[in-house]
Amino acid sequence: MLEMEEKILKEGKVLPGGILKVGNFLNQQIDTAFLKDIGSEIARLYEGCGVTKILTIESSGIAIAVAAGMEMGVPVVFAKKHKTSNVDGSVYSTTVHSFTHGTDYTVVVSSDYLCRGDRLLLVDDFLANGSALRGLIDLAGKAGAELCGAAVAIEKGFQSGGDELRREGVRIESLAVIESMSDTEIVFRPAGRDTVNRT
Ligand code: 5GP
Repeated sequence: MLEMEEKILKEGKVLPGGILKVGNFLNQQIDTAFLKDIGSEIARLYEGCGVTKILTIESSGIAIAVAAGMEMGVPVVFAKKHKTSNVDGSVYSTTVHSFTHGTDYTVVVSSDYLCRGDRLLLVDDFLANGSALRGLIDLAGKAGAELCGAAVAIEKGFQSGGDELRREGVRIESLAVIESMSDTEIVFRPAGRDTVNRT
């Protein structure tokens, strides 16, 4: 999505440690007109796939998930970050390693909202090492739900999460894939050029 690349180039800030800050339009202040376009693009990519529900993780995935959910006419469920790993039986839980904080945390979702028969689209803001998406895939598996694929706003292609998941057969659609970034330059992977052949 060209507009995503342009937005990153214009408003993104590269921080030490391979972090891209997009607080100006996605992570803290949200450009609502642009968010609507993100939702439309995700809906277009997954049109005809029979998605019945979107699953994301709080908090930064929620806005994008809701934008996509409104376009697709499906509900959005977000997994909640839980302080301890002691959770009762009415929830599905999994552990996610936070790339930005360097710690593990537990995420939970009520078994009322994730069910066998759901056809899930996973949505998140960033894809780096893939831990967040793997956590969501684990929750989907525990619920017996089917996976249609994942959509992320920004994939950092220089980290291996996206390509590993594609290799495992998971459909991943990223609106922009960053091949490399420094404080002077951000290079994108050309659209449609996966490094991994899809099945
Ligand atoms: P992963 O689990 O794929 O390693 O990392 C994805 C998660 O970490 C996302 O949910 C996102 O919140 C956070 N994240 C990873 N890299 C970045 C980054 O460069 N910038 C920001 N703002 N968040 C990131």
